[in-house]
Order: sequence, then structure tokens, then C-alpha cells
Amino acid sequence: MKKFGIVAKKDEASIQIEQHLKEQLTEKGLVYDKTNPELILCVGGDGTFLYAVHKYLDILENCCFLAIHTGTLGFFTDYTVDEVNECIFDIVNKNPVIRSVPLLQINCGKEVCYAVNEMRIENVVRTQLLNVKIDGVPFETFRGTGMCVSTQAGSTAYNRSLKGAVIEEGLNLLQLHEITGIHHHKYRSLGVPYIMNPKRRIEFFSDDFSDAILCYDQKHMTLDRVKNIEVSLSKKEIHFAKYRNIDYLERLRDLY
Ligand code: NAP
Repeated sequence: MKKFGIVAKKDEASIQIEQHLKEQLTEKGLVYDKTNPELILCVGGDGTFLYAVHKYLDILENCCFLAIHTGTLGFFTDYTVDEVNECIFDIVNKNPVIRSVPLLQINCGKEVCYAVNEMRIENVVRTQLLNVKIDGVPFETFRGTGMCVSTQAGSTAYNRSLKGAVIEEGLNLLQLHEITGIHHHKYRSLGVPYIMNPKRRIEFFSDDFSDAILCYDQKHMTLDRVKNIEVSLSKKEIHFAKYRNIDYLERLRDLY
């Protein structure tokens, strides 16, 4: 991987590391190419990595990601600020193992969008009704703020705040969870996270999505005139360049 690009958070520490990486890697014979990079270096946090994936969505099949965290370890980041020179050494001298992770694919009729962590349908204005079908089979009618579908990678993000389960790296699963569901004698829905086979196709139907928004990672769109939203795992994948093997347990322990 000769051509590299850098996506850095806009704080002073990250900008300094970006500059250092650019200088050192160019000096060692790599080529800085922000349009068609083969290796994308992310400097910041897990949020910066998500931003980088969305920025390079159209060339994901041709590039790999490697991330440096300016805080604690993170879930997508393999090096900390103190390990920047070790990271440079690894890029120049080692061959990485490539680990690939699928994205969520979300189709609401307007456009197809993708997510690393999760998609959420949220309505903070009024009760949102969602008829949920799984693999075309009616599953439940939900009433509440909304629902979240998370990937394994996203299980430690928004899903965790919803008290969804953390899913260990390597287990490619989907998780469907409610966002403040209404449960009483009249309205019933599952009420707990449903961890499912990654081949499942989840559909949300409603006659009225006005006031609701579709959030996917750090992006969002309105759902006016939308009647159904389909979610599944995509064939589109993110490739990680792994120069070191960090135990998932270590990342999880550093989370809180
Ligand atoms: P953001 O500032 O980019 O991220 C919000 C926080 O979520 C940051 O601390 C970020 O870590 C962390 N994060 C992102 N992906 C993670 C993952 N897979 N596992 C563990 N932590 C993760 O926020 P944003 O731009 O609004 O949205 C990006 C993501 O943040 C969303 O996909 C959502 O999952 C998450 N988020 C969570 C909540 C919540 O838990 N209530 C609310 C909003 C957003 P770093 O500090 O390392 O960047």
C-alpha cells in the first residue's frame, strides 16, 4: 500500500499528528494521495473513523483503514498518540492482516445509505408507530420513540446506551432494539434486544413518518413521504489494515 490519505479531527493534537504522519511517511517513500488512497489513516477517535468511512464510501473496496486514537484506545483505533512512531514503523516495514466488516444497508426509497454502527428511526415529537417485518414476515407493531438496528461494531455505541448487548468482535450479528417503547395492556412489543442472524432483512412500515428522522452513524435525513425502510447487512465492506492484534476485551475494558 503505497498511496495514503489522512482524515484527522480538527483539534490541535490531531492536526499535529496528521502533519507528522504526512512528513514521515512521505520521507519513507509513500505517496500522499487524498483522492485515491490505498491506506486511510484516521486520527482522532471512533467518531473520526466513522466520518472517514462516509467520506470514502465510494472507494471502500480499494482501500484499507488504520486509526490512531488521541484519547483512549477505542474500537476502530489500534494505536494511541504515544504509539504514532510504532504505527509508522509498522506501515513501512510490515504486511498487515486485512480484516473486513460489512456495513448496514438502509433503503428508504429516497436513496440507499450505509452505516458502520447503526441506523435509527427516531421521532422525538410524537409517538411513532412502526410495523416491523422480518424476512417479509410480520413480527410486531411498535409504538414509542423509535427503533435501532445495530451491527456488531455498533453494539458498543448508541445500542449500548439503549442497554443493548455488547457483541464481541468476530460475531457477525444484527441487533434490533427499541428506543423508549410504550408497553401496557393495549400496546405490546418485544421490549428487549433481539440479536439475529446477519442474513435477516428488517423492514419498518408506517403510514406516517413525518417528524421522524433516519439517523445512520453521524448522519441523518428526514422521512417525509417515506412508507417503508428496509435494513440488511450490505455486501459493501470496510477493510481494516491490522498490523497488531488487540484483544477485544482490552478495548471493552477501556470503554468506561
Ligand atoms: P460522535 O461524537 O462521533 O460519537 C459519540 C461518541 O460515540 C464518541 O465518544 C465516540 O467515540 C463514540 N463511538 C462511536 N462509535 C463507537 C463504537 N462503535 N463503539 C463505542 N463508542 C463509539 O457522535 P455523532 O457524530 O453524533 O455520532 C456517531 C456515533 O456516535 C453514532 O453512530 C452513535 O452510535 C454514537 N452516539 C451515541 C450516543 C449515545 O450513546 N447516546 C449519542 C449520539 C451518538 P470517540 O470519542 O472515540 O470518537
